[in-house]
Amino acid sequence: AIVVLGSTNMDLVAHVARPPRRGETVTGRDFAMVPGGKGANQAVAAARAGGDVAMIGAVGSDAFGPALRHTLAASGVDIDLLRTAEGPSGTAHIVVDDDGGNAIVVVPGANATVTSLVPGDETLIATATTLLLQLEIPLPAVLDGARAAHRHGVRTVLTPAPARPLPPDLLAATDLLVPNEHEAAILTGVAEPRAAAETLLRQVPEVVITLGAAGCLHAVRGAGPRSFPAPEVTAVDTTAAGDTFVGALAVALGEGLPMDRAIPWASAAAALSVQRPGASTSMPYRPEIDSAS
Ligand code: ADP
Repeated sequence: AIVVLGSTNMDLVAHVARPPRRGETVTGRDFAMVPGGKGANQAVAAARAGGDVAMIGAVGSDAFGPALRHTLAASGVDIDLLRTAEGPSGTAHIVVDDDGGNAIVVVPGANATVTSLVPGDETLIATATTLLLQLEIPLPAVLDGARAAHRHGVRTVLTPAPARPLPPDLLAATDLLVPNEHEAAILTGVAEPRAAAETLLRQVPEVVITLGAAGCLHAVRGAGPRSFPAPEVTAVDTTAAGDTFVGALAVALGEGLPMDRAIPWASAAAALSVQRPGASTSMPYRPEIDSAS
């Protein structure tokens, strides 16, 4: 099984001709509520890719809580250990303007209450092949989860987003780090992906740096970085491409595929997701990934 310890968010997206200045009100053209959060997105991606997936995290006691639960459950994610915290769910308030620029306010809400594991979490983690982690819940919980996984021989995969300096304890409990190019540069101070990968290998044993339409770079200690192309497709919405990639990668690795076969399969899943609008709604199901790869 795959366990995801991470965030759930409701994204509230308004399209405007131009963003408001301070003190100003503008009329938006349309509005959409999009369930997201990197944790929930990775859980949905892995479940749709055929994984047996459970999610640990929290939704709020507001109207978004049940909607966020429903999104996970509808894709087959086990939400028995997803908590409801008194107060608002995590939200992202996104204003997209006609130039494609955006301005975003993220309010962690219930995600901020996930500060440690609770009884039952470690038992679940112990049953997993892989624990998927990101950085949208408090760092102490991420660290607790990674350590619990390591106590039980469970592989940990960390998406270091939003990018921030990582404590050595967390890196020491990370088996596979999957930053995008931008995050890799922030973590290392090195812009060139191959050089960034080499730098990251001093801290973790294995790295995949995703490069958008350019595919990804896989590096493992003792061997030079190897690049993998992405399928050539027409992208209409790359939201959550990285989460789709990681979710599918976890499924393939959990089924025992070696990295050089798991990566092309995960790339096929991510390429399918970018050809459709939406975040979790655009994520492909297993049969589609199998026929595209
Ligand atoms: P993130 O979504 O975290 O910023 P990337 O943009 O690097 O991450 O995308 C993650 C993966 O999704 C890439 O490694 C690639 O496999 C796939 N992907 C992203 N954009 C495209 C694209 N335009 N065409 C094909 N695949 C893509």
